[in-house]
Amino acid sequence: MGFIVTVGGIFVLIVVAILMYASNMREKIEAMSPAERATYFFGAVNEHLICPHCQTKGLVRAKQETRVVTSTGKVGGILKTDTTSETTAVVTQHHCGQCGTTWDI
Ligand SMILES: [Zn+2]
Repeated sequence: MGFIVTVGGIFVLIVVAILMYASNMREKIEAMSPAERATYFFGAVNEHLICPHCQTKGLVRAKQETRVVTSTGKVGGILKTDTTSETTAVVTQHHCGQCGTTWDI
C-alpha cells in the first residue's frame, strides 16, 4: 500500500512539474515582442534568402529542425514483408514573414 502511495505521489509531482514548465514557457513566449516570438519559432532573418512563394527578399527566417520521417518499404528475400520505419532527419525550416509560408529544405 505504501509503495502505491509513493509511486502515485511521484507521478503527481512529475505531472505538476511538467505543467509548471509549460505555463512558464507560455508566459515567456507571451512576454516576447512579435519579432522575438518570430525568432523563437522560426529562427533569425537571413537577408540573402528569397521566398520562392512571393519572391520577397530579406524577410525569410531559417532554423534547424528535426523531423520524424516515416518510410515504408519491402525487406526479405523471396517472401517480401512490408515494413514501416521511422527515422529522424535534420532539416532547415524556412518561414517567410511576408506571405507566412513555412517550408523545409
Ligand atoms: Zn513569401
